[in-house]
Amino acid sequence: MAKESDVDKFIEAQRTFTAQGPDYKKTKKALREVLLALPDEDFAIATKNLVLSVLHEKPYGQLFHLDSIKGKFKIMQLTIHKNMPISLLKWVIAHELGHAMQGRNWKEEDGDDLEVDADEWAEKWGFLPLPKEAEEWHKERAKKF
Ligand SMILES: [Zn+2]
Repeated sequence: MAKESDVDKFIEAQRTFTAQGPDYKKTKKALREVLLALPDEDFAIATKNLVLSVLHEKPYGQLFHLDSIKGKFKIMQLTIHKNMPISLLKWVIAHELGHAMQGRNWKEEDGDDLEVDADEWAEKWGFLPLPKEAEEWHKERAKKF
């Protein structure tokens, strides 16, 4: 499993968390729990040159400056919805880290393959199936769109 010191170093380096508030605290907690569940080698691949962009519902935008990153990097964007169950947030983070494991972007011929694969990573790390509260919250939200 990923080492606590490596996980904390990764989280502290994320410029997106410069802003404070309960949503960011909750997200950091969920992120920490997910990263700690990853085997060492998965953690190394998923977090290599990974930049998080986390935004809760109140602000319309966010900009942060980064020191230069050598080579290929990846950005994970997360929207933190008000009252989102932490179990759902953890699945979202695990699913997006699953995409990080894929090492490339979606192409039309992929169809749903990368989505299924990202969920398989989330399942491997223990964040699927979703608990009932997360399923219900997700269903309620889906009705709004
Ligand atoms: Zn996906």
